[in-house]
Amino acid sequence: MANQDKLLQWFYKNQRKLPFRENKDPYKIWISEVMLQQTRVAAMLPSYEKFILRFPDITSLAKSTEEEVIQYWKGLGYYSRAINLRKGAVFLKENFNSKFPDTLDETLSIPGVGPYTARAVLSIAYNKEFAVLDGNVKRVLARYFLFKENISLPSSHKALQELADTFLNSENPGDHNQAMMELGAMVCLQSPLCMLCPIQKGCLVFENGKQSEFPVMGKEKTKLPIKLKFFFLEKDERILVVKYKHRRFFKTIFTLPFLIEGKKLPASYEDNSDFGKLLQSMDESLDWTKAGKHSITHHDIELQQARLSLDNKNLESLEKILSSNIPSAEIEWKWIDGKDLKSEFPSSIAGKLQA
Ligand code: SF4
Repeated sequence: MANQDKLLQWFYKNQRKLPFRENKDPYKIWISEVMLQQTRVAAMLPSYEKFILRFPDITSLAKSTEEEVIQYWKGLGYYSRAINLRKGAVFLKENFNSKFPDTLDETLSIPGVGPYTARAVLSIAYNKEFAVLDGNVKRVLARYFLFKENISLPSSHKALQELADTFLNSENPGDHNQAMMELGAMVCLQSPLCMLCPIQKGCLVFENGKQSEFPVMGKEKTKLPIKLKFFFLEKDERILVVKYKHRRFFKTIFTLPFLIEGKKLPASYEDNSDFGKLLQSMDESLDWTKAGKHSITHHDIELQQARLSLDNKNLESLEKILSSNIPSAEIEWKWIDGKDLKSEFPSSIAGKLQA
């Protein structure tokens, strides 16, 4: 039996029961693949269930507002993914009669859909002959074929895609892709469980006993340590939240106003708008307290917060700046009830701040 067949048999017997595998609905596969791009299965499942309950199909997602989709994305982070999904649904409603297309060119024309997502949805939903390449699949292939280059290089991506195409089970590409991803997630782990592996015979790394040396990885970049200083600016027991369109963090969601501090930060981290300058002028007189730590892909963040009850003079200059000096395309703002902070600022960081 060919190894591709052994892999499929193993998958049918051992796959985890996951809601997006229950049928071949391209919409649900699309949503799940986008959620899984930055999040592990166990962490994304509760959000997936709630999201699908509220937006069961393309039409319901296309009809939603950006704010609502962001609410349902809570906890998953990287909110631009949610906004792009909604944009994609609107595009499908307007151009494809709310149906997910079945060709690569058409699928790639959907806003926010890149080659990985297109290949995953088309192969799993329509059994189209495309091999997918995510982090798990790269690890399996690099070991199976004893791939000697650093797998994070762009040139390696191309070479690994070619290996994935060669290894694809062309009779059953959708299940094959899922089996490869599942093997990477369940067996060919960082420390691989080769004794349980259906493609052990034929795996070059196993035959050479070099599991610990593969895949070849580049050195991990060290994370940039920064401070995020959040301002609770209060007016009549309400607090100010803002939506920055062009800042380094929280571009797509409402957040508390904030400053970024750190050593040798890129200029793009600074806020040189009049609003940013106003925050800087308030900064030194405030009593900052630590609110915890947070780690994301490229940053180790120390969270700080401070509170300021605005007097009439402060309030007047603040609202004047927000109303007239910042073009509305740059920033949105509103006053909210403190108890609504977590829903208005849908980031796990909000949960660490004391409202
Ligand atoms: Fe991975 Fe081991 Fe299977 Fe090779 S034999 S693919 S190293 S789990």
